[in-house]
Amino acid sequence: MAGPWQPRLLALLGDPVAHSLSPVMQNAAFQATGLPYVYIAARVEASRFPEAVEALRLLGARGANVTAPHKEQAARTAHWLAPEAARAGTVNTLVFEGDRILGYNTDGPAFCRAVAEGAHTELAGRRVLLLGAGGAARAVAMAVAERGVAAMTVANRTLPRGQELARHVAMAAGVPVRAHAWPEDRSQWADLLAGHDLVVQATSAGAAGPWERLPYQVLPPEALVADLAYAPGGTPFLRAAARAGYRVLPGEWMLLYQGAEAFRLWTGVEAPLETMKAALAGAGLFLGNGDGRSPGGGGPAGSR
Ligand code: NDP
Repeated sequence: MAGPWQPRLLALLGDPVAHSLSPVMQNAAFQATGLPYVYIAARVEASRFPEAVEALRLLGARGANVTAPHKEQAARTAHWLAPEAARAGTVNTLVFEGDRILGYNTDGPAFCRAVAEGAHTELAGRRVLLLGAGGAARAVAMAVAERGVAAMTVANRTLPRGQELARHVAMAAGVPVRAHAWPEDRSQWADLLAGHDLVVQATSAGAAGPWERLPYQVLPPEALVADLAYAPGGTPFLRAAARAGYRVLPGEWMLLYQGAEAFRLWTGVEAPLETMKAALAGAGLFLGNGDGRSPGGGGPAGSR
């Protein structure tokens, strides 16, 4: 059994991983709790993912986090899937338990917790617009649909992928979900945004997205605008939404809660949230008091 002098390994497997703040956040949590683990980020090509998992097990690692593009492959690699991972078909947390690989997905529950505790907002009854249909969008769509939202629209650049996700969520959760083509101009964006009161940006488009030009003002005043992506100073998508006066929820909150749940799964101990928040703040990420303040510390997000 590992003693304090012999920490067990945890790794983030993805490609790329250099941008990730999970090592900073998790290692701060291990130090604060005195638990004997060390967390590294490892870039792994898709074709070598199974080998990387086997190598970690050989080294006696406790588990791994998994990010793009390996989340579907991780679900196939696990011997057992937690219900939310099975429903989403994707895994972001592996736990090595004896000879078995257990697969979890903490992304969806983390987003829901972020909405509740980071934005003090109820999901029930919301009309959700989800931008993107990749691994994170999938997990978020399933988790959100199970919490009583009224309806959901999925808009994805590759329409068939969005249609497949919409069908999957509608069948699994019994919520009306429609797929929508990726808008090509401002008036198509206005048609898409109108009538939704929770907008979730779940693409990896980053600064390449059309965010600055979107007609946010067609959203109802009580709408919440959320981004899964995070960046020091806020993402272009959320900065534009905050300028238009809407409440925003930055991806930092989901990062915090998905990491906290992974920490608990590996260690059996509740994660030290304040320590993890401080570690993210030290890396330049903004985690306010959950009052919908604009990213970048620019004060309250207007009257909306
Ligand atoms: P994937 O690679 O699985 O999916 C990427 C998605 O982005 C697809 O829907 C893709 O569309 C879309 N996309 C990529 N480029 C563009 C573009 N230029 N214009 C429009 N759409 C585009 O990534 P993930 O789902 O894993 O991650 C998505 C985002 O969520 C990332 O920013 C990631 O950092 C963030 N994330 C944040 C987490 C957190 O804890 N805060 C946790 C997990 C993810 P298409 O199908 O057409 O290729």
